[in-house]
Amino acid sequence: MPSTLITEIGELVTNDPSLGDGSALGILHDAALVIENGHVAWVGDSADAPAADERIDAGGRAAIPGFVDSHTHLVFAGDRAGEFAARMTGEPYTGGGIRTTVVATRAATDDELRALARARVREMAASGTTTIEAKSGYGLSVAGEARILRLSREFTPETTFLGAHAVPPEFEGDRDGYLALVCGAMLEACVPLARWVDVFCDPRAFSEDESRRVLRAGMTAGLLPRVHGNQLGHGPGAQLAVELGAASVDHCTYLSNDDIAALAGSDTVATLLPGADFSTRSPYPDARRLIDAGVSVALATDCNPGTSFITSMPLVIALAVREMRMTPAEALHAATAGGAAALRRGDIGRLVPGARADIALLDAPSHAHLAYRPGGRLVWQTWKDGGRVVPACSG
Ligand SMILES: [Zn+2]
Repeated sequence: MPSTLITEIGELVTNDPSLGDGSALGILHDAALVIENGHVAWVGDSADAPAADERIDAGGRAAIPGFVDSHTHLVFAGDRAGEFAARMTGEPYTGGGIRTTVVATRAATDDELRALARARVREMAASGTTTIEAKSGYGLSVAGEARILRLSREFTPETTFLGAHAVPPEFEGDRDGYLALVCGAMLEACVPLARWVDVFCDPRAFSEDESRRVLRAGMTAGLLPRVHGNQLGHGPGAQLAVELGAASVDHCTYLSNDDIAALAGSDTVATLLPGADFSTRSPYPDARRLIDAGVSVALATDCNPGTSFITSMPLVIALAVREMRMTPAEALHAATAGGAAALRRGDIGRLVPGARADIALLDAPSHAHLAYRPGGRLVWQTWKDGGRVVPACSG
């Protein structure tokens, strides 16, 4: 595989605080980067760059680690534009719309679901995303959940079994029967197709005991836990995530002081999904309180048809900066290194020798433009595993 030198990088964000300006972003100016065998082989001053087979002139643009979108519901059919419009006339979100997507997803063929997911992945890549996590949760049957995970694995190794997303209509009035299925035959069918197990732990979804049961069953079967928690109200999700050593608790809109203290003393990342709060006109999480308490924070899209039909991490960064008072540097870190931590991955989310060559080259001189110019097309090129994916290489 030929080596590639990307040179004349105006601002290179490495996410290694031992490099460059010494900040958490480890920024180098007038920098260059060499790619070999899909990985970063060298970073440093443009003037000192070694020769390579191919040379790309970044023309003073900024280079950042590709975004790690650690929370998506990638594979689904149908849309809920009607529900969105109703909500914008004042109806609150109660979580009931998941069933609408289950009906549409069950009715779609594999090829239809694959084409829909592929279009979303392309959109994500065009806005600089190089790693995505993808959850099941719109099948809610043994075959349906396994099918979504099988299709998700065509796009990412970071697949998550979320059978406990909602109770499907056929189990109305029999929650226990559904949970027995989730922890039994459904889990058994999904374990070979998933890395993670997740649960919608919320006062309007699954209780603390129900959530613990699902996560423990998944962990016993070899999956790693993550949690949807504290989205619609105060609840046990964050503390349950810490108790079980979950990689991440996602949403975190409603947190008590005890929740924040528990997170600060743990390895569990708080993943904030401001696109969901934006799209449902809900309060935003208190990111400042989390960061100031020392909690590790990630940002993700929560791409789903009901509450956050958003594929753009730059939009999420803009919301985090403008609505949650994160600094542009904190937001970029959370959208890259934070997402990597939320997936327990050391090979992505940073640009240092040995890391995967997953890179977004911005059509801007600094990362601050991501929040400064929301809505514009700021990604010039996206590279994944050392190959350019956007714009697609011809031939
Ligand atoms: Zn979600």
